[in-house]
Amino acid sequence: MKIRIISELDDKEMLEAISNILREMYELDVDVEKVEKILDYRCFNSRRNQYDAWKLIQMYSGERGEGEYLLLIVKEDIYASGFNYIFGLAWQGVAVISTYRLRQEFYGLEPDRKIFIERSMKEAVHEVGHLHNLTHCKDKRCVMAFSSWIGDTDYKSWEMCQNCRSKLRVMQRSRF
Ligand SMILES: [Zn+2]
Ligand SMILES: [Zn+2]
Repeated sequence: MKIRIISELDDKEMLEAISNILREMYELDVDVEKVEKILDYRCFNSRRNQYDAWKLIQMYSGERGEGEYLLLIVKEDIYASGFNYIFGLAWQGVAVISTYRLRQEFYGLEPDRKIFIERSMKEAVHEVGHLHNLTHCKDKRCVMAFSSWIGDTDYKSWEMCQNCRSKLRVMQRSRF
């Protein structure tokens, strides 16, 4: 298995930070592809002015090559039904994260590169964890904890608790 990242953002520092943490955590090769646009009218909901993450994942499920996990990184706001917004979503080998709500500017604060990159790393590790069949963790410091708002993302680390880590090891052993 490997991880293929497709990104709308041309942010070398962020993409490198994400690639490195994913490579280290999941012990997989990581490729990065930059594209002009991932999101389009097919997954846009004009009533909500947001993109439907489920539709997006379905659109890209055919793009996934054999033996790879696909991680999409998008700029615009995404949602899933039942939620006002989401930071990311993963389903059957394809995951998406949105950087829309990861910047301090979104909350009316001064830009902060370090915080932005840390948040992006956590959301990427979290969604790729779901691709490894990990579920949400009750340990709020664990990267697999659910983020209902940015405060949850900031509170959690980009590491897994013992419990999630041992589940991941089992998954990794059964991967081959
Ligand atoms: Zn999750
Ligand atoms: Zn955990």
